[in-house]
Amino acid sequence: MRMLDLTLHPHRRFNPLNRSWVLVSPHRTDRPWQGQVERTAQPAQPPYDPDCYLCPGNSRAGGVRNPAYSGTFVFDNDFAALLPATAPERQDRAGLFIAEAEPGICRVACFSPRHDLTVSRMTVPDLDLVVDTWAGQYAELGRMPFVQHVQIFENRGAMMGASNPHPHCQIWASGSVPTEAAAEQSAQMDYRAARGSCLLCDYLALERESGERLVCENESFAALVPFWAVWPFETIVIGKRHLTGMDEFGDTERRGLADILKRATTRYDNIFEVPFPYTMGFHQRPTDGQPHPEWHFHAHFYPPLLRSATIRKFMVGFEMLGMPQRDITAESAAARLRALPEVHYQQR
Ligand SMILES: [Zn+2]
Ligand SMILES: [Zn+2]
Ligand SMILES: [Zn+2]
Repeated sequence: MRMLDLTLHPHRRFNPLNRSWVLVSPHRTDRPWQGQVERTAQPAQPPYDPDCYLCPGNSRAGGVRNPAYSGTFVFDNDFAALLPATAPERQDRAGLFIAEAEPGICRVACFSPRHDLTVSRMTVPDLDLVVDTWAGQYAELGRMPFVQHVQIFENRGAMMGASNPHPHCQIWASGSVPTEAAAEQSAQMDYRAARGSCLLCDYLALERESGERLVCENESFAALVPFWAVWPFETIVIGKRHLTGMDEFGDTERRGLADILKRATTRYDNIFEVPFPYTMGFHQRPTDGQPHPEWHFHAHFYPPLLRSATIRKFMVGFEMLGMPQRDITAESAAARLRALPEVHYQQR
């Protein structure tokens, strides 16, 4: 028997954060990477679009008019998936038909009045304002008595179902901790109980030692392709200090987060020289009033693209019925991201 070689042999990798597995099949990428750029024609966006419901001064559903905002702008989603006045009730029939009311608030946060910008092409000072807005919303919504968890996320690109190119994110505050955050919470809690240290602090120390999956870093954050990545160019952004949520950030972390998000998304856009689609979001301490020392603030980027601007990964077949699978290893994806310049291809 040969030794298991993670660059050659099919194997599965464990995600200690949500305790799931991913199948890795590196032998399927024996053929050399072609690296060709299939640039698809991107319709150039105007700085202001009279038909955009997020641009300053425009009207939204129901005739509400946006203010002539100049920085960030937050409003309650006109088509909210959650409603605050939902009465608390639980139904349980034979332990098989279980339903619980879910009160909550859904907001939209515009990053900029400029319709044509993306995180990758905004300036760090402008992104600082976005980070301040996120931290403010996390604190404000988290203080509401029925809010146990605040999920901030950005869906970017038509491929990810984002209907509007205007740079914005969504903020969903809910009365329960959602499935993914709950799984990561119990894993972090168990790790802390078993070892007396933090899962992501320990993990980041080992990743920085080896460097093989690191993409970029600054004083406060490191961006890397996690060992257990599912999406081809998935990354995780981990804080270097053990902070449980954005409300614990100092100026260094706020600026550091703005900087690392700009650099990571610029690298993404530079892979295929197109605005890279992704879902990005933060995982942090639930707002249930408990201290949650086990939580370590981080961000996930889940981008779908695989081989070109048009060839995406699908989660189908074995992935729906068995477990996720990938061909290019986390290490080769990280090497590719690391080799890219941090100057945006449109600004070179
Ligand atoms: Zn717009
Ligand atoms: Zn930690
Ligand atoms: Zn997470």
